[in-house]
Amino acid sequence: MILTPAQIKKILKEEKLSISKRRGQNFLVDAYMKDKIIKAIDIKETEDILEIGPGLGALTDDLADKSARVVAIEKDRALAHLLQKNLAKCKNLKVIHEDILETDLADLGRKVFKVVGNLPYYITTPIIIYLLEKERMQVHDIYVTLQEEVGRRLAAKRGTKDYASISVLVQYYTNPKLLFTIPKRAFYPQPKVNSVFVHFSMLVEPPVQVHSEEQFFKIVRACFNQRRKTILNSLFHKLKNIKKDDLHNILRKAGIDSARRPEELSIQEFAIIENIFHTKEVWL
Ligand code: SAM
Repeated sequence: MILTPAQIKKILKEEKLSISKRRGQNFLVDAYMKDKIIKAIDIKETEDILEIGPGLGALTDDLADKSARVVAIEKDRALAHLLQKNLAKCKNLKVIHEDILETDLADLGRKVFKVVGNLPYYITTPIIIYLLEKERMQVHDIYVTLQEEVGRRLAAKRGTKDYASISVLVQYYTNPKLLFTIPKRAFYPQPKVNSVFVHFSMLVEPPVQVHSEEQFFKIVRACFNQRRKTILNSLFHKLKNIKKDDLHNILRKAGIDSARRPEELSIQEFAIIENIFHTKEVWL
């Protein structure tokens, strides 16, 4: 149910509520963009939807109309109550007042969810990391609105300035696709930057094999923490009992030029490094 800014102001006044910047409350007020989002999600009537941050319900009733069930997680207690009351006609909707980062999706029912949300900007990346690292068994697709810059970083390919450790993490678990831009004027209050609507489809298997995912992501983060350094220098500072020359030769034998910088390495090459140095004992 798309509301105009005037309607939002009126409802909030009647309910004696105010918009919380701290909670990243920017409500979608553009009906054309709402329709575009709903169409892109391509909901099947057998699917269960998990909506993150439903707010005043810009997407919620359409999601409920088209799916088997919607569970909406809203951190703002007043908004959660208001939404459940206003959408009482949606019998397949359950609004839960909770922080998504503290929600155990396995407790919400036995099915896996299609996750949907216009995410609050202040915790966009933590939510994506949470879903992928902790909750991926409960999720089969993620469709979310993010700041444009964050979306570009998550989907970035190696060799680009946006490529970062989070790109590797996201692309280890999913195939991210930037679907379309949502201009900032589509929200009230208007945020400072444009958004992008992104589809992350979960991969059946990761694109590379590693001994330990934890160790793999540690290596990736360690390399990107020192973006300007060569792979040789970044790794040398993290490994013990190894001479620089030996490290250079080990990498060369594995087909990795140690003078390259982390943003030039593919996921496959980071996996090769993990495969060589997977024993914990060699890491500082
Ligand atoms: N979906 C609505 C829309 O499109 O108009 C609201 C989007 S608004 C960008 C983000 C919503 O997420 C707000 O309603 C906010 O209260 C809620 N929120 C913020 N932090 C949250 C959290 N940690 N867990 C769940 N919801 C959260």
